[in-house]
Amino acid sequence: MPLQTILNRVEKYKSFVYGRVRLVAQRTGPPEIEVELRARANGRATCSGCGRKGPGYDRLPVRRFEFVPLWGMAVFFLYALRRVNCPRCGVTVEAVPWCQGKQQHTRTYQWFLAQWARRLSWQETARIFRTSWQSVFQAVKHAVLWGLVHDVWHNVQTLGVDEIAWRKGHSYLTLVYQLDEGRKRLLWVGPDRETKTLEKFFRLLGAASSQQVRFVCSDMWQAYLTVIAERASQAVHVLDRFHVMRLINQAIDEVRRAEVKQLERDGYEPVLKHARWCLLKRKENRTAGQTVKLRELLQYNLQSVKAYLQREDFQQFWEYHSPTWAGKFLDAWCRRVLRTNLEPLKKVARTLRTHRALLLNWFVADGQLSAGTVEGFNNKAKLTLRKAYGFKSPEIAQIALYHTLSNLPEPKFTHEFW
Ligand SMILES: [Zn+2]
Repeated sequence: MPLQTILNRVEKYKSFVYGRVRLVAQRTGPPEIEVELRARANGRATCSGCGRKGPGYDRLPVRRFEFVPLWGMAVFFLYALRRVNCPRCGVTVEAVPWCQGKQQHTRTYQWFLAQWARRLSWQETARIFRTSWQSVFQAVKHAVLWGLVHDVWHNVQTLGVDEIAWRKGHSYLTLVYQLDEGRKRLLWVGPDRETKTLEKFFRLLGAASSQQVRFVCSDMWQAYLTVIAERASQAVHVLDRFHVMRLINQAIDEVRRAEVKQLERDGYEPVLKHARWCLLKRKENRTAGQTVKLRELLQYNLQSVKAYLQREDFQQFWEYHSPTWAGKFLDAWCRRVLRTNLEPLKKVARTLRTHRALLLNWFVADGQLSAGTVEGFNNKAKLTLRKAYGFKSPEIAQIALYHTLSNLPEPKFTHEFW
């Protein structure tokens, strides 16, 4: 079957026809395929200024537009763009359906690269399809912008607000998720975690839609608490399980690190050196080796172990259904912790006390929020940023996050090709 027939099946342009196909040998690597395109004899060119047909003016030199590679060979369309003598816009270059503006890649190839860049890292995508990192980035950016323009925020009832550190913790990004049943995705990413960051999101959502939000979950970062209370005052604001446990884990780690130093100073063997994971992991996630280590640790009367036991005790909190009983448990736990000398954990207890009402909202929203959702997104977001190692600007990081987590709309034709 001639290549033109295949192209007419998958990539047909009404006013253009495929002409000759050539294999062009390369100095190194496989040959390239060149496919000529020409306008139908009676077809008039479309003005790129106003989108209307106009009389021809002249032709520009032949240009190459890269298409999806076939059998490992790069494919190029060859076409000499016409210029249009448009009565409204003057002399303009014609608009062609396979390519936008001055792009070197056809639209189809851009969507193709963007889709692969969701499964592989951008670097790998560039390597496999013999193109540059920059081209892959442009393709992803194009897909994200298209998606954002065509995306509709409809009936958003449950929001999750999360922050993520990047570039070794020097900067933060704020992420807002939609967590509705059957519609869980990243809605918005913004640089920093200031009051004005989250305000920007609520401005985009609009006052009317903000008033329809029923649940918001977030961590205890004050800027978030303030903005949520202002912009979505009717929503049940929940401090969710993932964020609370993360706070406790950070405290345990702080206790452990201080204790490692202390033990070293006092000349004791560093029993805690490699104990980080067995202290932080939950029982069911621990490996056999880590369980042995923990048993060994529990024989010492260590601060870290005490902190760990308090955390295990706190897990019970999430088992409650009644806010009243959960509240009683919380008060008792905080009292116990405040009597210890575990400073980082005491700080957590004081924070939890301050935000008691928001914590108990977890039980008010019983069953409406799943503990794992924000955590799952947080892991995926971290992985995305890790895979995209080398991102210099927050803009690139934001594009990568939208691309993997937002489930943005795509034009229909992209599903037909692969
Ligand atoms: Zn025009």
